[in-house]
Formats: sequence, structure tokens, C-alpha cells
Amino acid sequence: MAKANKVESYKLESNYLRGPVAEELASETLNVSEESYQLLKFSGLYQQDDRDQRKALREQGLDRAWSFMLRGKSSGGALSAKQYLVYDELADLYGNGTLRFTTRQAIQLHGIIKHDLKATLQKIHEALLTSLGGCGDVSRNVMACPAPEASRKQALLQDIAKDIDLHLMPRSGAYYELWIDGEKQKVADVPSTVYTQAVDEVEPIYGKTYLPRKFKIGIAFPEDNCVDVFTQDIGIVPVMLDDELKGYNLLVGGGMGMSHTDKDTFPRLGDRLGMVEPQQLLAAVEGIVSIQRDYGNRENRKLSRMKYLLEDWGVERFKQELEVRVGFKLSPWFEVGEFKLDDHLGWREQGDGRYYFGLPIENGRIKDDENQGLRSAIREILRALGCEIRISPQHNMLFINLKAEDKDFIEAILRNYRVKTRDEISLARRYGMACPALPTCSLAVADAERALPGVIEGLEPHLISLGLTQDPISIRMTGCPNGCARPYTAELAFVGQSLDLYKIYVGGSFEGTRLVSEYAEKVPRHALVDRVVPLLRYWKDHRNPQEKFGDFCHRIGIDTLITLNLNESALALSL
Ligand code: SF4
Repeated sequence: MAKANKVESYKLESNYLRGPVAEELASETLNVSEESYQLLKFSGLYQQDDRDQRKALREQGLDRAWSFMLRGKSSGGALSAKQYLVYDELADLYGNGTLRFTTRQAIQLHGIIKHDLKATLQKIHEALLTSLGGCGDVSRNVMACPAPEASRKQALLQDIAKDIDLHLMPRSGAYYELWIDGEKQKVADVPSTVYTQAVDEVEPIYGKTYLPRKFKIGIAFPEDNCVDVFTQDIGIVPVMLDDELKGYNLLVGGGMGMSHTDKDTFPRLGDRLGMVEPQQLLAAVEGIVSIQRDYGNRENRKLSRMKYLLEDWGVERFKQELEVRVGFKLSPWFEVGEFKLDDHLGWREQGDGRYYFGLPIENGRIKDDENQGLRSAIREILRALGCEIRISPQHNMLFINLKAEDKDFIEAILRNYRVKTRDEISLARRYGMACPALPTCSLAVADAERALPGVIEGLEPHLISLGLTQDPISIRMTGCPNGCARPYTAELAFVGQSLDLYKIYVGGSFEGTRLVSEYAEKVPRHALVDRVVPLLRYWKDHRNPQEKFGDFCHRIGIDTLITLNLNESALALSL
């Protein structure tokens, strides 16, 4: 039998995520061992160090500048004003003075010193929030369309996200012992429905070694695929007929991460598994999780996401295994309409006489700087209105349940703090997404959040001169191939390859239904704009009416695009 990887041993020997964590948290050092680092992920904590300072510190013979990132959980991105304001307060008390919305509708705080972790997590707990399962080999924040639930349809999405998050929450008491002095938050005692072997009393769904890797679930109606449902381990697509819920279509085996150097790794879109009846959903989700738990690769973490199991087995075998576990048959996938995308920005009517307002947050980073007082503006709005918020899957912010008279108030505050709204930014910026990457992410090999604004700034004048400002393009950038900002479904993506060098990908769809193809590699950051502009020009000159950039690149074909060897001088000759 193949040998399990090191992380599997840590989990197995940890007594349900305890291991040496408590002892190491109490020690004087500012960092923890590899074993505790892996176990702390389940508490939503990543040990990091300031990569910008690493070399200089090493040259001075000093240790790294250690700190932790905390990622909370917020099903469907839903938070009350008070809860958001707790994160805001913590950012100053213990973090680096900024908040980061993630592409999975959660909030991250960066720069927390080890000795402040307990105080931070206690504040989170007091606000009826949690970071349990924010990271680690369990189901992550369940994503759902963030639009307010004024209609039954929208309410359904948010309700399912909460139900699944609750059902798949780790049940070990380790989190509460470590951070809350043993006090357990009220978690409904959800019995395992499909565990077919001896039931693990502590973790009836996950067992002692939890899942082989992280696990992602998202829910979307076809008319609004803002959660990128094809990129999830489980994608859930409710089927509504005449406003009645008929069932849930299930997609399985989507996932973004890959390695540039390992050809066995790849991004993948979910397969259409079939449809389940409304009351069967939780059992089906748990059944799928249990298959991944039992058959996912535990030898090589690079190959342990469920997408590789689907690739290996095929969807039919996977379905048969699931049907045995859950004890019911799945119906065939119910054909739904074409997938579309709404980013929910700007002022919208909710359908119940109230309004919601979607504010773009560039790359999800909330801070005050010399250009704008974004963090102050949000704080002032929420303190005054006390309205609920939603984090969108494009790391933007929705203020919901607003009255008509709130509009002038919100707009005045945003103007006062020089915060730009939807109509004041280009479509390229509006649909841009980047992961945090350098200097905090330990896996980053290049910048993303700090680089994308400059790249878009470089593209914007060209989009204007080409007359393409009214054409939305999804542009995404990540600092490594793990794909946290879902670059492999974008129309145009830049993925860090090594320091300041990127691969360029094109041809995904704006609606998130198709994967990209690799167009160029090892392109220096300063040359990204120059490599892309000829492509934009070629699109403009040869597109079908209204044809989107991603669809155009896909229709022409990556081989042809590469063979054309597009550059500005070649294009000038061909005109
Ligand atoms: Fe870090 Fe890579 Fe994820 Fe970006 S894509 S946050 S660099 S792991």
C-alpha cells in the first residue's frame, strides 16, 4: 500500500486536530512547527511571513517576520453590520490595518502575531462568528449568490449554503479548547446519514484524518453563475419550474489548482452528475464528501482534490458509488438554460420595496490609502445604517435591505472618501480579480493583488483607443498556479510562473463555463500589456458582432492565435 503523506500522519496522530498546537501557542517563539501549522489551518489560520522582508532579515542573521492570516467563515458571504465591524476593529487591534474579502465570500485578516491569536479568535466567537473550517482539509465556506433573499428563489440559495456549512462543520472540540477555553458554540447535532462504516463518534462525516484536501461547494442558478459553479468540488444548481423547486442538479469534480511543472495536475470543470430531489440534497452532498474521504488520493497532496478521482473513475462509476451509499437513484441532469453572470454591482431593487447596493472592492482589499478612504467609508455607512452585508464571489461588497432614502446618504459618504463606484471604473477593472499572493502567501511566486491594478491601468488606454470600453472582459491574476482567483475560467488570465514572470491564458468564458488555454509563458510583468494589446486589436478587427473576447479566442483556437505571432508590428504589416 502506498505511503500516506506527512500531513495525513499529522492529522491521524493529532487526536482530532489537537497535536502539539496548545503547547506551541503557549511558547515564546513567534512561529509554530510544520505539524502545528498544518493543524492550525483547520482553525482558519495560516502561518505566513513577510516575503518582502525575508531576504534582508536572512542577511542580517534574523528570523523571518512571522505572522498569521485568519480566514473567517460566512456562508454565502452573509454578515451583519456588527459582525463586519468586529473584523474592522480586529484589523487595527491585531492585524495589519486592512481587511481582505476573498473570492469565496469570506473575510481575511493579515499580520496577526501568534500571541494575539487567542484574543482575536475570542472576539470572533463573541460576535457569533467562526473561523473553524476557514482553511484545512474540510469543506470550506459554502458559496451562494449574494443577492438579498427578497424572493423565495434567492432565499433558497442562502439557506442551502448555511445548511451545508452547518452539516459539514468539523465536530471536534479542539477549536473551542484552543481558543474559547472549551466553550462550544451552538452547533446543531446533525446525525450522519450515509456513513456506511463504523461511525466515528467525534467526526462522523470526516473521520480521524478528515478529507485528503480542501473541499469546495457552490450554489448557483443558471441565470447567474456568479459563484463559478463549474469550478467547485460540488456545484449545486437548483431546478425551478413555475417558481416551484423541482430538485437540484449536481456537478462534481471541478477544481482550479495545478502545478506548472507537474503534467499530472490540471484545472477541471465539474461533470454533470444528475439531479436529486429537494429532501435528498444533504444526504447526496454528504455521500459525495464521504467518497472523496474514502477514495481521494492521500499519498500525493498535489493529486488529492476530488477532480482527480473523477478523472480517474469517470462520472458513471462515481454516480454508482454514490447511489450505493445514499440508497437512492439520481435522476438524469435536468437541462437548464444557458449560464449567465451578474456581479450585482450598483443600485438594484430587491423586489420587496427595498434596495441593495453593490460596491466594487478592487481585489477585495479594504483599506484607507492616499487615493481613497474605502475602509473609513464602509465603517461610517455600516455604523449609521446597521444594514446587513454580503461579500460577493468577485470579492465585492453588497449593502442590503436599504430604504430609498439611504441612497443619497451612501453616495455622499462615498464621494466624501473619494471611493469609486461601479460607473466610475472601467469594465476591465470591474471584472478583474486577483489573489493576495506576495507578500503574505507562502506559495506565491509572483505578485497578483499588487500587480493587477497596474496591468489594467496599462490596458485601459488601449481599450479606449480600440473602442472596446463597452465590452466586459473577465481578467484574473494569481501569484501561483493554485488558482485561488479562479483564473482558469477567465477570458484573460495571468498566472505567476516565477518572480515577475507570468503565463498568459485566454479563451475561458465570461460566464465561467469553459476553461482557458495557455497562450504565452514567462512573460515579464512589464511586458504583459504589450503581449495582450495585439490580441485585443485582433479581436476587435475579426470578431463577430457582440462576440466576447473569451468566445472569440476560443473560436479562433489557441493554436491559430499562437501561430499568428501577434505583435504590433506584425499587425501593422497585415493591415
Ligand atoms: Fe497564494 Fe497561489 Fe492562492 Fe495566490 S493562487 S493566494 S499565490 S496559493
